[in-house]
Amino acid sequence: MRWLVIFFWIIGIFVGITRLGPAAWGQTSAPRKSSPDVFLITIDTLRADHVGCYGYKQVETPALDALAADGIRFTEAFTHSPITNTSHITILTGLLPSVHGVTDFGVPLSPKHATAAELLKKHGYQTAAFIGAVILDSNTLAPGLDRGFDFYDNFPVDSKNKERWGRLERRAGEVVEHAETWFEKHRAGPHFVWVHLYDPHDPYEPPPPFSEKYRDHLYDGEIAYADSAVARSIAVLKKAGVYDNAIIIVTGDHGEGLGEHGEETHGLFLYDSTLHIPLILKTAGAAHQGTVIDAQVRTTDILPTILSATGVAAPAELNGESLFPLIEANTGAQSQSNRALFGETDYPLRWGWAPLRALRTENTKLIEAPRPELYDLQADPKELKNLYAPDSSKAQSMKAQMAKWKAKFPPPTNSSKPGEALPDPKDKIDVQNLLHRAMLAGDDNRSSEARQFLEKALQIDPSSPTAFRQLGELELAAGDFSNAAVHLKRACELRPEDSSDAFELGEAMEKSGDWPGARDALESSLKLAPSQMSARLLLGHVYLQLKDAKNAEDQFEAALLVDPNNSEGRLGLAEAQIQQSDFADALTDLEAFTKTDPRNAAALRLLARVYRGLGRGQDAKRTEQQAGALEKR
Ligand SMILES: [Zn+2]
Repeated sequence: MRWLVIFFWIIGIFVGITRLGPAAWGQTSAPRKSSPDVFLITIDTLRADHVGCYGYKQVETPALDALAADGIRFTEAFTHSPITNTSHITILTGLLPSVHGVTDFGVPLSPKHATAAELLKKHGYQTAAFIGAVILDSNTLAPGLDRGFDFYDNFPVDSKNKERWGRLERRAGEVVEHAETWFEKHRAGPHFVWVHLYDPHDPYEPPPPFSEKYRDHLYDGEIAYADSAVARSIAVLKKAGVYDNAIIIVTGDHGEGLGEHGEETHGLFLYDSTLHIPLILKTAGAAHQGTVIDAQVRTTDILPTILSATGVAAPAELNGESLFPLIEANTGAQSQSNRALFGETDYPLRWGWAPLRALRTENTKLIEAPRPELYDLQADPKELKNLYAPDSSKAQSMKAQMAKWKAKFPPPTNSSKPGEALPDPKDKIDVQNLLHRAMLAGDDNRSSEARQFLEKALQIDPSSPTAFRQLGELELAAGDFSNAAVHLKRACELRPEDSSDAFELGEAMEKSGDWPGARDALESSLKLAPSQMSARLLLGHVYLQLKDAKNAEDQFEAALLVDPNNSEGRLGLAEAQIQQSDFADALTDLEAFTKTDPRNAAALRLLARVYRGLGRGQDAKRTEQQAGALEKR
């Protein structure tokens, strides 16, 4: 049996070599002329049933329709996650959310998981990524997502911009323009380029003429606008002569609730409204023009398909399978793919509600929740009639399949403690919609609207820690620090395990001059999450205010262990040393600091104090003059 497996493996490699050109075994190798370009376009928040070639009549998506006509359209494609960064990491790693572990914003992608960019780069590909939203920024909310990309188009650091555009979001036109500029400068292939168009994500604000044409259904207007950006990219590829032999994949990271099941947006539930996405694959040449595949496929199948099409060896651990066997076997009749979808969302945990798991076969869906759900997808595609009965044979068999999936993968690290009964997200959707609306209003500086949404949310759920947290953040931004502290204190009482609540409470107290209160809040935040740089630095400053230089020194030293070059940490440490009359240590560090950063007036002021402490009056005077000159500018 084993020999048979090895035999087919060898045959497989041979077939790979002859059909696909360069087969490789994971080693770095020069690109072969025949290596096809790979262009991946993800359109955020794109429901399959709101795309023209998927049968929707109220939107014009000529670019997507034409691409589908040139390639393969998968009618039944599903995402494993309704959350942007989790879903994109699944697309780029071929791994389930519970396997790659990035189930919330800001969680770093472990270096042990290879990304599409890393795998293709090893094979001589030029790699670049162009993102449309700050939630995929690798410096902040999506650490590790840039791995393997020669260029990753992050957002500007420390933007003073208050507008959403440019600070949180880029329009599709701008994303595509950045990609074009890069492409012009990097014409030698092969390329792996990922373009992320965020536009259909709420709020729905398409630019003209889409804002006019789709005035009554702006979500569709955003889709039509994103399609126009796809059209522009395809035109660039055609003009450059690379379209025909390129592999082009267009998909969505998740759909949008649009009010189905009470869900306005996405993230909380695992219904098809947010899991069913379009998937279009144009292969190299005109090999599969106009093919339509109705078998169920998943976003974990995308990476294995790219690797198979480029002849790059797959890593040992992948949770999906190449789509090519399905494409080759497609005879027009509905093929049964046996590609069950394991859906996951830990997003409800952010509010203290139960995480959900779903198993979707082509006909049936089981949703594991405090109140489980079972749907017959053929008879009830909108999932309106919950057929779950614990003893029914269908429920039993789906539960057994679900147990097999779960047994294969470790439980999510932040899952609730066993036995802890968390509320069912179904009972909380109204609150979540309000919290989401408040967040958007806050982002857009419409703070009184945001307050109203939060007050409404607290009427429905008076013990929502997130509502208190968001109220606190609004007051922090408005400069009402003592009120901010009141709300954040309440959030901490309701959710004592949340380090960010405690950090923000510390921030509010520090700003309102309550040093002992700030110290206690920051100490408890750091106890929960010791590696937080900003909490550590702030606590150091609070100790300085409390005239407790020894403890301040400890905090700055701990911060410098994480980042030895942090300027704020180095200057804070010097201040603590000066307060303890430890001039010798402060001198060494400040002289080194001002050598590399001679225009830092604050560092020069500290250095002057050190000179004074050491009795070097002349040096102190000269340094003060330097600092004064810099401060005048
Ligand atoms: Zn998204």
